[in-house]
Amino acid sequence: MLGLSLKGTVVIKYRLRLKTGLHIGGAKDAFEIGGIDNPVIKLSAELNLGDRTIPKGAPYIPGSSLKGKIRSLLEWSIREPKGLKGEVKTSVEYMYEKANGDRQEAGKPCDCGTCSICKIFGVSNVKTLETIAEKDISKLPGPPRVEFSEAYPTEESINKLKQQLGEGLYTELKMENVLNRITSESMNLRTNERVPAGVEFEGEITFDIYSEEDLELLSKLLQGLLQLENTYLGGSGSRGYGRVKFTELNIIVRGQDYWEKGQEKELGTYNSVIELRKAYNQLKKEISEALSLDKK
Ligand SMILES: [Zn+2]
Repeated sequence: MLGLSLKGTVVIKYRLRLKTGLHIGGAKDAFEIGGIDNPVIKLSAELNLGDRTIPKGAPYIPGSSLKGKIRSLLEWSIREPKGLKGEVKTSVEYMYEKANGDRQEAGKPCDCGTCSICKIFGVSNVKTLETIAEKDISKLPGPPRVEFSEAYPTEESINKLKQQLGEGLYTELKMENVLNRITSESMNLRTNERVPAGVEFEGEITFDIYSEEDLELLSKLLQGLLQLENTYLGGSGSRGYGRVKFTELNIIVRGQDYWEKGQEKELGTYNSVIELRKAYNQLKKEISEALSLDKK
């Protein structure tokens, strides 16, 4: 990482379509709701995004929800050298062994400081970074590469929800049963609030590029997007909630020209993460060229 400078940023603008209802929990008293046990997170005031306005009460997906879920999925799947010792394992295995029986510690995000995940998402444990800096400063991970914006419902989705549910309503209520194991009678009903299937959100992922190696890290992030599509976002995933699909992934590169003149380079739009991954080898060359990564 040492001696490298920021060359530019790859921006992925995307749409995220809900294949099933989505529940990302919000604060119960932050919004006026009667009788809902599990409210979803919503805007507490109207939000002006510049080109459009999102009404008060509209649900959104916090960037932190996407980031946390994708990071956690990758920590279970990417097997790589961890920390200064460089033992090859997943982040979950690494943290579990490092915790040595301490349950609180065992479940924490990877803090080895050297693996792809630590480079992409960052390391919250400053002590790890100090240890690496002392022993081998060239192994420092550098700044976190990725940022996730909040994702807001598209204008079409907001209008559709208004038509279907009425002015100011953007969510549905779902009753959930718990069955008595002996009598099969319903023991209690809970009301879950969720964003209806079919709603589309739009958001942005930005990925900072310092060197060629970061293009490999970006490829791993794309793997994480695919893994998210294979599981769920938000709560109640085992009951079918939160199935999502990325569509219209628009790739934009911002380098020196952007900082000086506001000029960015659009590299293309892909209908799915799979399509984007198939085109990635070619895309890598184009990003490298746009940011002059081969030149020092
Ligand atoms: Zn790590």
